[in-house]
Amino acid sequence: MKKIGVLTSGGDAPGMNAAVRAVVRKAIYHELEVYGVYNGYEGLMEGNIKKMELGSVGDIIQRGGTILYSARSNEFKTDAGQQKAIEQMRKIGIEGLIVIGGDGSFRGAEKLTQKGFPCIGVPGTIDNDIPGTDYTIGFDTALNTIVNAVDKIRDTATSHERTYVIEVMGRDAGDLALWAGLANGAESVIIPEQEESFESVVGKLKRGQERGKKHSIIILAEGVGSGVEYGKRIEEETSMDTRVTVLGHIQRGGSPSGYDRVLASRLGAKSVDLLMDGVGGRVVGVENNIVVDHDISKVLSEKHAVNMNMYKLANQLSI
Ligand code: ADP
Repeated sequence: MKKIGVLTSGGDAPGMNAAVRAVVRKAIYHELEVYGVYNGYEGLMEGNIKKMELGSVGDIIQRGGTILYSARSNEFKTDAGQQKAIEQMRKIGIEGLIVIGGDGSFRGAEKLTQKGFPCIGVPGTIDNDIPGTDYTIGFDTALNTIVNAVDKIRDTATSHERTYVIEVMGRDAGDLALWAGLANGAESVIIPEQEESFESVVGKLKRGQERGKKHSIIILAEGVGSGVEYGKRIEEETSMDTRVTVLGHIQRGGSPSGYDRVLASRLGAKSVDLLMDGVGGRVVGVENNIVVDHDISKVLSEKHAVNMNMYKLANQLSI
């Protein structure tokens, strides 16, 4: 393989730029030509593709977002859209593509691979919801953003007797909520993977109040439902003064953490190695601190599992 392409797709995540940088530099190190595709699959179909040089990725390792931009495209979900994308790449002589994104983006990469165009998926999403990797690029940064935000809420909370419901991202996965719950010492963590009755959450709040607790923090994963609704129910049920914070998109932004930069560098580099070996249809990841790769269809057929031992621990530590 002499020419490869790289794109970012779906929801952006801090550390995507560090991954793009690693792909470009690793490819050039091995004397490959590397092309950046702008605006995800949308730009791929339109031929919005530019050759990248060493300098193209200078000064981006610390930047959030993605310099290649991201987009969502319905046309690309069709056979005709995918064929158009392959033709654009063949015109330039690109022989393999690295897709940095989440599971939706990997479905696109799987389709291209099935059509004879080798792709590698690099998990870039704050949700940590991709099977076959302990961490996705962006998760650690988003977690730290939540931890800092909840610390600030706790500062003001100590002055009032209040219950705080904090809604965090994660789509259908509870990882961000669970990790933040442990890191922030929340009274309750509510995640989609584990049903917890409303009565048990309320019971815990009341017991805390009886013990003289000044405030309580409940971290709710967005996959469970609306924080605002949940806060209303709590207030109705307990008559406690309740406040809701929906952290929203601040969780997607910001400079990537040291961990995310290193993870992105390792995974980006591995994806180039795979294409150089003529391998496509894989998703890279890290398991027990070792860089691994798995079959893309297998990754897409599995369901990410939250660590239930950590969930138990969060409950044990918040009695
Ligand atoms: P993420 O990668 O963050 O999960 P999306 O689910 O929005 O984000 O997917 C990003 C893009 O990937 C979509 O806009 C679409 O172009 C492409 N994609 C998603 N699902 C498929 C699919 N089943 N087949 C082909 N392309 C897909």
